[in-house]
Amino acid sequence: MVKQSAIKIGILGGGITGLIAAKSVCDAKLSPTPEISVYEKNSVPGGLMRSTIANNCCWDNGMFKFTRSDYLVRLFPELFEDIEDCRQKVWRGGKLSDFPFRLNYYLKTESKISLIPTILDYGYSNCCRLMGLGEANLYKWPRYRLTKRMLSRAGLEQYMFKLQGYPPSLLSARLGEDRLGHISINTKPGRLIKLLLAKKQNNTKKPKLVVAKPEFLGIGAIAGKLADLCSAKGVKIFYDSPVTKISHSRGSNYEIQIRHGDKLTNYPADYIISTMPLNKLIEAGQSMFSDECIAIAKELSFMDMYLALFIINKPKLSHRHLIIYSFDKNHKWKRLVARSLPDGTTSIVVEYTFPKNTTVPRGEYMKSVTFDLVEELKLFNYNDIILNRTATVPNAYPIYKLGFENNVSQLQDYIHEQRLISAGRQGQFRYIGSPDAVNHGIVAANKIIHFIKHGYLKYPRPRQSLSGIKQPHPKTAITARVQYDKILENK
Ligand SMILES: Cc1cc2nc3c(=O)[nH]c(=O)nc-3n(C[C@H](O)[C@H](O)[C@H](O)COP(=O)(O)OP(=O)(O)OC[C@H]3O[C@@H](n4cnc5c(N)ncnc54)[C@H](O)[C@@H]3O)c2cc1C
Repeated sequence: MVKQSAIKIGILGGGITGLIAAKSVCDAKLSPTPEISVYEKNSVPGGLMRSTIANNCCWDNGMFKFTRSDYLVRLFPELFEDIEDCRQKVWRGGKLSDFPFRLNYYLKTESKISLIPTILDYGYSNCCRLMGLGEANLYKWPRYRLTKRMLSRAGLEQYMFKLQGYPPSLLSARLGEDRLGHISINTKPGRLIKLLLAKKQNNTKKPKLVVAKPEFLGIGAIAGKLADLCSAKGVKIFYDSPVTKISHSRGSNYEIQIRHGDKLTNYPADYIISTMPLNKLIEAGQSMFSDECIAIAKELSFMDMYLALFIINKPKLSHRHLIIYSFDKNHKWKRLVARSLPDGTTSIVVEYTFPKNTTVPRGEYMKSVTFDLVEELKLFNYNDIILNRTATVPNAYPIYKLGFENNVSQLQDYIHEQRLISAGRQGQFRYIGSPDAVNHGIVAANKIIHFIKHGYLKYPRPRQSLSGIKQPHPKTAITARVQYDKILENK
């Protein structure tokens, strides 16, 4: 009898999606046990879930808030603590105000009469959607009718420009759903009318938010714990190992080329879960994809995020946990997250983005942000600054330019032809949070487990419905089934 050799699974990227996928495959206790390797380009795990550490201080680079029910919070409860108050404010018109599109704000500032144009907007954009009139941009966001009037009144146009590098007229309506869905649900005309007539305030309790404890070195520690858990289960994690090329191979299905310093090494894999950026995956797998596919991938891009980090000699900035969004067009930054630390200081993370191919010297940027926060917002004084740093977070935001949905959809179809799953925030080109990233990891792992147990089966990829965009019919099922035994026989 031929001895079955272990199936090799290559996971590209050691962010949460990749690590959860690795853990989930291990937890399935397959026999023979698959060999799982994670290839991560950075020297630490976590991807977008990382911390910057300097002089015993740590700042969460991007992700920072979770809910009690979050998978990661349940997995490592000892690493988290509650946020007592989490205030969201907006800087515009020279002052701090409540976040627009929150019900309380709307009820305070809107008269019943102003609902009429809102309802007309809503009707108009829904008609556009029903009639399938052209591609829906952010102004024609039909589901929650966040139209031009609403966007500009709230000052959100400027915020969207900072986030994506394009004005809302060139951005897909999908951004509205992914980015603003939770904000705008409160401003649906039906709900507003009901509440205005009832003169009720919104008393619904928000779920309790939690953050990573600073003494455990922030969210980076959570990624570290997850990586340790995977290693303990037998997963090999290669750090400082960017994937440079993926190709088909004779012995196994794939060969993954990794750069270690100056050296290129090839590793075999039967299945791949990729969490690296979708466009970079296609670039790395050039030999497996058509020219058309490569050209489409070039249309996709991400915004990098830069951070200005401060430790301030003040116990708090008006609230123990404060988030300020800047809708001001003179500010380069778009969001600030401040958090009181146990030693009586406050850590501040200020995010800024620049359209691709713009270079702004870091020192100059740091100076201008410090000026905004000290002179204009008056959050602290120059001599309160104990420490400052800058950091870069590459590929933080997928850019939702008009037409991107079709490009992503076509690429996913190409990828679907392969024994390869592209998952996670960068892999799916979607604005997802950590609960979704965890979910992507679990779903990708389950697919691989299914392939290993029952043989590789191509099935029609479910299409997501994108509001305002006419979707082509799902392809009919392709049921080319390749038996697991056959794969082994061919080895
Ligand atoms: C600013 C910001 C704030 C956020 N805040 C929150 C929040 O408060 N709460 C929340 O739940 N979510 C938040 N999110 C979302 C959350 O961070 C992501 O959903 C999650 O981290 C995505 O994980 P991932 O593994 O899919 O992707 P990533 O973390 O991006 O992982 C991809 C990995 O692939 C690696 N990689 C890339 N290219 C290569 C290559 N060529 N070879 C090898 N490896 C490669 C990268 O280094 C990275 O480690 C935030 C995101 C951002 C950008």
